[in-house]
Amino acid sequence: MPYVLHIFDPWKSPLCTCPTKYSLSPYTGCGHACRYCYITSYIRNAFNPRTKKNFLYYLKKDLTKANLSIPISISNSSDPYTPPEDKIQLTREALKLISSFNAKAIIITKSSLVVRDLDILRKGKFTVSMSITTLNNEISQKLEPHASLPYMRINALKNLCREKIPCSIRIDPIIPEINDDYNSIREIVSLAAEIGIDHIVSSTYKAKSDNFKRLLMTFPNKSEILRTLYIDKGVKIGRIRYLNEKIRFNYMKMIKELADEFGLTFSTCREGFKYLHTSKTCDGTHLIPD
Ligand code: SF4
Repeated sequence: MPYVLHIFDPWKSPLCTCPTKYSLSPYTGCGHACRYCYITSYIRNAFNPRTKKNFLYYLKKDLTKANLSIPISISNSSDPYTPPEDKIQLTREALKLISSFNAKAIIITKSSLVVRDLDILRKGKFTVSMSITTLNNEISQKLEPHASLPYMRINALKNLCREKIPCSIRIDPIIPEINDDYNSIREIVSLAAEIGIDHIVSSTYKAKSDNFKRLLMTFPNKSEILRTLYIDKGVKIGRIRYLNEKIRFNYMKMIKELADEFGLTFSTCREGFKYLHTSKTCDGTHLIPD
């Protein structure tokens, strides 16, 4: 029975197209406190990140027994560069360990702190997936109050690409009326191509009761339209409310066409539109170097 390295389980979501991968979270909870975050539905005190006890000891044990041909996703229930990683450096130590096993990993983050670990990333089998929901500072600060500002994430990506670390951008989640403006998304994709990003992943916002309440409180002037789109006209899949399929498809198609225009590959995350994908994997793990 593994201690900290578990096979990724998307709660048996029928829309998940992820390849088999391990999930690893150095932290329980995440201090970025994104308004749309779903971890508050299953992690107690979720925006108060804490380290896992004896994490590195158990990671080493798990890596010894792991199938190292399977990529490790860091992380799915917290940002590996959440505050206070800058002081604690638990993710940094985990990356060193992963690299020493010659294991492969995808790092998913909204923090520019990832460039601190370039020395490790350069030598190992890593790809970085940076989430960028908007380039607008004001919207970003409302949506992701303690994550790096968009320009800092872009600068981090520039540094990573310069060092030939393969990177993707997650435009995720798209929230109607908040960050779904065509020109703004086009700017992200265009910038991605300019920087040297290989791949775009996108997904629409999925509402759970707690994150939906937070979102409505943060954007009270959008509450009516969001209620209409998610409650009245949306669909329930499992315990999650989605936009209806037509709206979701139109968003994903729009971003795929932008990715095509700028020569980037594209995939969606838990949308059910696998036929829109133009990459080998939906999550960007295909970018991990051999
Ligand atoms: S960075 Fe990810 S895990 Fe952290 S609060 Fe934001 S959405 Fe949740």
